[in-house]
Amino acid sequence: MNFETALLHGDFDGDKNTGATLTPIYQSSAFGQESAEKIEKIFHNQAAGFAYSRISNPTVAAFEKRITFLENGLASVAVSSGMAAITAAFLNILKTGDEIISKSSVFGGTIDLFRDLENFGIKTHYVTDITEEELKPLINENTKAVFAETIGNPKLDVTDVETAAKLVHSYGLPLILDNTTATAFMIKGIDLGADIIINSSSKYINGSSNSVSGIITDSGNFKWSAEKYPVMKEYLKFGKFAYTAKLRNDTYRNIGCCLSPINAFFNTLGLETLGLRMERHCSNALRLAEILEPKKGIKEVNYPLLITSPYYDTAKKQFGKNGGGILTIRLYTKERAFAFINKLKYAINITNIGDTKTLVIHPFSTIYAHSTAEEAEKAGVYDDMIRVSVGIEDIRDIIDDFLQALEYINKELPIDI
Ligand SMILES: *Cc1c(COP(=O)(O)O)cnc(C)c1O
Repeated sequence: MNFETALLHGDFDGDKNTGATLTPIYQSSAFGQESAEKIEKIFHNQAAGFAYSRISNPTVAAFEKRITFLENGLASVAVSSGMAAITAAFLNILKTGDEIISKSSVFGGTIDLFRDLENFGIKTHYVTDITEEELKPLINENTKAVFAETIGNPKLDVTDVETAAKLVHSYGLPLILDNTTATAFMIKGIDLGADIIINSSSKYINGSSNSVSGIITDSGNFKWSAEKYPVMKEYLKFGKFAYTAKLRNDTYRNIGCCLSPINAFFNTLGLETLGLRMERHCSNALRLAEILEPKKGIKEVNYPLLITSPYYDTAKKQFGKNGGGILTIRLYTKERAFAFINKLKYAINITNIGDTKTLVIHPFSTIYAHSTAEEAEKAGVYDDMIRVSVGIEDIRDIIDDFLQALEYINKELPIDI
C-alpha cells in the first residue's frame, strides 16, 4: 500500500458498531466488563479489552495502530507529549549508572531532559555526528543507547539513518530516532535500521496545533539482553514485544503520561492529510529558501536541500525531493532578526513547528534561553538567526511577506557588507 493510501486505509478501524468513519472519542476513564473473569484476563493480557484509560483507550489505540502501520513498526504507545515519549523511551531501558550518546543538535527540550536525568545518575555524552571516530571513545559497558533526530531542529543537520544504525548496531546498541521533523512521509526509519522511533505528534502529525502529544514506535528488532538491560529482565519472555510490553505494563502506565482520547482523535484526523500537507510544506520551504538565499541583507539560509547545505548529499539520497518544512535564516544581528520577525504579517511568532500556518521564532532568546552560548552554537543556534516553519499557504504570499520584512530591515537597520 502506498503511503498516501496508507494514511487513509492502513490499519483503519473506524467504528464497527456504527460504521462511523473515524474511531469515536471514547472519553471514558474506565471500562466496565461483564465478569470478574474477563477483567482478570484483560489485566493479564490474555484477552483484548480496555480497563482504564491510563493503560489503554480505544481512541488512543486507533491512533497507535495507524502510526505503527505508517512507521512499519511492531507496536506503538501514544503519550501525553513528545517530551513524555522521549522520557518514557529511555526510562524503559535505563537505570542509575547508565550512559547514553546523543547528537548535540537535538531539540533544546531534550537536552534539558538529559540534564535532569543526570540527577538520577544517567549521563549523556554528545557527538556532532554518529561516526566511528566520535562514538568509539565514548562507548563503555554502561552505554545503553544512541539518540539522534532525523533532521536536527533547528540545526537542520541530516542523520544518515542507515549508516548510523549499522554503526550503532556494531556496538550492540539500539538507535533511538526522533523523527518529528521528517515524519514517516519523508523516511521510514525502521526500514533503515532504527530500533525505536519517537514522534512528537504535536507537530506535523496533528498538523493544526490543536493537541500536544507524542508516540513511541518499537521496531521489535533489537535484541535486549538481561545482562546489559537488567530492568528489561522480566519482559524478555515477550520476545520481540519485550520493549513494548515493559513500556505499556510498567514505564508508561506507572509514570502516567497517558494521552487523552480527544487529542488522539485530533491526531488521527490530522494524519489523514499528512501526505498532502508534507508535500506542500516541503515544496514551500525549498522555494522560500531558494528565493531568500541570494538576497542582500541575509547572511545565510540553512535548508537541507540547498546545495550550500553541508547535508545536501545525505538529504538528497535519503529524502529525494523533500527537504522538510523548516529553514533557518541568519540576518547579521539580533536587532535585525527581531525587527524582521516583528514586521512579518502572516508568519506567527511562536514556539512551535509543523503547523499548517507559517511560524517563526528567534530560538537563541527563547528555546535556548537555558543553554550556554556554546551549547546553542553546537545546536546550530545563533543570536542573529530565526527559524521558520513554513506552512501550507500559497507560497507567493509568504515570499512577498518575507521580502517586505527584509526590505524594511535593510532600510531601517542597514549593515555594511
Ligand atoms: C517539539 C519537539 C519535541 C517535543 O515534543 P512536545 O510534543 O512539544 O513535548 C521533541 N523533539 C522534537 C524534534 C520536537 O520538535
